[in-house]
Amino acid sequence: MTQFDFTLIGGGIVGVATALTLKQRYPDLTVALIEKETSFASHQTGHNSGVIHAGVYYQPGSLKAKFCKRGAALTLSFCREHHLPWKQCGKLLVATDSLEFDRMKDLEKRCVLNQIKTHRIDETELRQLEPNITGLGALQVPGTAITDYTRITRKMVDLFLAAKGVVKTGSPVTSIKEQSDKIIIYRGQKQVHTRYLIVCGGLQADRLARMMNIDIDFMIMPFRGEYYQLPKHHSNIVSRLIYPIPDPDLPFLGVHLTPMVNGSVTVGPNAVLGWKREGYHNFNLSIKDTAQMVYSPGFWHVIRQNIISGIKELVDSNYKPGYLKRIQKYCPLLTLNDLKPYPAGIRAQAVKKDGSLVHDFLFAQTQRSLHVCNAPSPAATSAIPISEYLCDKAEDKFKHMG
Ligand SMILES: Cc1cc2nc3c(=O)[nH]c(=O)nc-3n(C[C@H](O)[C@H](O)[C@H](O)COP(=O)(O)OP(=O)(O)OC[C@H]3O[C@@H](n4cnc5c(N)ncnc54)[C@H](O)[C@@H]3O)c2cc1C
Repeated sequence: MTQFDFTLIGGGIVGVATALTLKQRYPDLTVALIEKETSFASHQTGHNSGVIHAGVYYQPGSLKAKFCKRGAALTLSFCREHHLPWKQCGKLLVATDSLEFDRMKDLEKRCVLNQIKTHRIDETELRQLEPNITGLGALQVPGTAITDYTRITRKMVDLFLAAKGVVKTGSPVTSIKEQSDKIIIYRGQKQVHTRYLIVCGGLQADRLARMMNIDIDFMIMPFRGEYYQLPKHHSNIVSRLIYPIPDPDLPFLGVHLTPMVNGSVTVGPNAVLGWKREGYHNFNLSIKDTAQMVYSPGFWHVIRQNIISGIKELVDSNYKPGYLKRIQKYCPLLTLNDLKPYPAGIRAQAVKKDGSLVHDFLFAQTQRSLHVCNAPSPAATSAIPISEYLCDKAEDKFKHMG
């Protein structure tokens, strides 16, 4: 049986970027990439807003703040180098009332700390820049851009294969056994032997960590992000990304208007608790996922702590006029007929036993493995720096081992 030097589990952008970075740094090492689906970017990476975030929101000094800023620059140069679609259209964070205006000023201070370039614009300038958007003022972030993360991921896979990386798709990892000199990865009856392992399992991150008996204090909760798409005649309704000012206590960014690289405009995403980790339809339910969730103490704390906003999200998810109202706050000309169906995405959010959401990227390890446990937005933007971080860690950790 072939034994690989490194094996990656997870064919989303984080796992694929890490496989590629490893192969680029160490061309002579054998590297395998395992993905349970038959194609790459099938989950979070292929169901997102396509935004290359500049890094506005994140706690200064956090991994998110650090990786997002560097990631935005690296993602843009990857797109330029490989002729993938991107556009640096910038974004406007629009304040529609005095509370949001104060929060906008706080965000502006955060941007200074995170060294993100912004301009404050008033109501008149806002009208000039975006005639269809209304507000008391806005924070302009010129660095924000858009791309297609599925295409980036597929390009990375091509480069990985061209560098003689090995890809194994189409069956899930079902168990993992770590021994003193190697790790055995089981995909049903099939086995992969590897000296070291890096796991980037997204919505399954906690289960993959538990397969290796890592004593984790969180579980992954799925939060659906539901979108609509605007009809063709509204494709030029905005030239920039338009975001509401977020509530600082909630990590999700609010329903935004996003020009996509294919020329369409999406609206969304909201954040509704999901009952199936990888179920994209509105009424998908998995008994296993739901039972695991409701038996965990973190779940009930999350429900208690977010009951009002949770109910509001659920109502607006099922009641289109409620959803529309959120957008009309800053884009009043949109009507119910403008909200056309568009596929949802599902966020993997690590939640601790006390119900607190893990805001930053989170990692865990065993003797021979590294695990990405929490990689929510902006992890697509940050994938290349996350891959560098994992490769540095792997280098330090495994240097002295056989
Ligand atoms: C609605 C939404 C909007 C978002 N918008 C943005 C945005 O605009 N910009 C941004 O930067 N980020 C955004 N994000 C976040 C971003 O998409 C994710 O943080 C990022 O894609 C995470 O990548 P990943 O590789 O960790 O996870 P994933 O893309 O989920 O990949 C994990 C992979 O692991 C595989 N896997 C899991 N278990 C197993 C197993 N047992 N065996 C084999 N394979 C397995 C899965 O099949 C999957 O392909 C958004 C996310 C969502 C859901």
